[in-house]
Amino acid sequence: MREPTPSLSPVDQALVDGVRTRGRRALAKTITLIESTRADHQQRARAVVAELLPHSGNSIRIGISGSPGAGKSTFIEALGNHLLDAGHRLAVLAVDPSSSISGGSILGDKTRMESLCQREEAFIRPSPSAGSLGGVAEMTREAILVCEAAGFDVIIVETVGVGQSETTVAGMVDVFVLLQLPNAGDDLQAMKKGIVEIADLVVINKADIDPRAAAVARSQMQTAMSMLRPSIAGWRPAVLVLSALQKQGIDAFWAEIERYRTNMTACGEFAARRQRQALDWMWAQIDSGLRRRFHAHPAVRAELEPLSAAVAAGRTTPAAAAQTLLDHLQVR
Ligand code: GDP
Repeated sequence: MREPTPSLSPVDQALVDGVRTRGRRALAKTITLIESTRADHQQRARAVVAELLPHSGNSIRIGISGSPGAGKSTFIEALGNHLLDAGHRLAVLAVDPSSSISGGSILGDKTRMESLCQREEAFIRPSPSAGSLGGVAEMTREAILVCEAAGFDVIIVETVGVGQSETTVAGMVDVFVLLQLPNAGDDLQAMKKGIVEIADLVVINKADIDPRAAAVARSQMQTAMSMLRPSIAGWRPAVLVLSALQKQGIDAFWAEIERYRTNMTACGEFAARRQRQALDWMWAQIDSGLRRRFHAHPAVRAELEPLSAAVAAGRTTPAAAAQTLLDHLQVR
């Protein structure tokens, strides 16, 4: 059953048609609409995305994470050119919550991935800069669907280890790749933060600098992953060594991604993961929507401060105060 969507204005219908016919301007404008914080824009964006949804899904969504300097943009550029030469169409999106936390962006400056930017079959979009990680994630999820509807069959979502951004990106992609440097410090960081547990594939980059160190890092990481990474049916996470700068190991990386897709599709996990992610996304929307409604409710606005003070002073219990506030939301 299709969800009823509000009818589209001619302007928005032109966006939908433009995306479907692979128009870059329409694609960029649709993503700008998704990223707008204006309520009327958000409503329009929802309708446009809903219209495009039936045409989405036909891609592999790859998350790529790594500390600044690990070589993400060099790697994505080398991989991207390789894929475009093989006839793929690639969209690169970024999730960079640092832009809303610090005002400065770690990813997303325009000079990155220059050769890819110039190619017609590639679409590079910096991170939305507005809002919390949750807001950025929501916009990126919708941008993925729109890029798929525009015929991009490989979607890369790039992120950097800030806050929860890695877990968030892992929750919107089919395969999550961690790019590491061949030194123990980087390994340790990744293990401490629990990223190794969510990585489906680890890549040790810059192997050209010291191939022996890279081989050691690989076997250490492999041991760590076999202990830390819960195995999913059909997949045992691999550790690859490559040099993004010298474009060595790029084909082996892509072969591994293809193997992952084949295995996961065969055991049903590929589709199951997307279903889980869609439901998680729905619940995240419900949670944030309820929270917004709660804070916007006039009675809550009037009572929140005095009740908080009463809880802090020990005059009322947290449970009682919460109940009083939540009761205002009751649907009659
Ligand atoms: P990002 O911050 O993760 O996007 O990292 P960059 O792609 O900007 O790379 C950081 C630096 O490492 C740049 O100077 C790159 O030229 C260099 N670099 C990236 N990959 C390699 C590699 O495989 N070998 C060597 N020697 N240098 C690399």
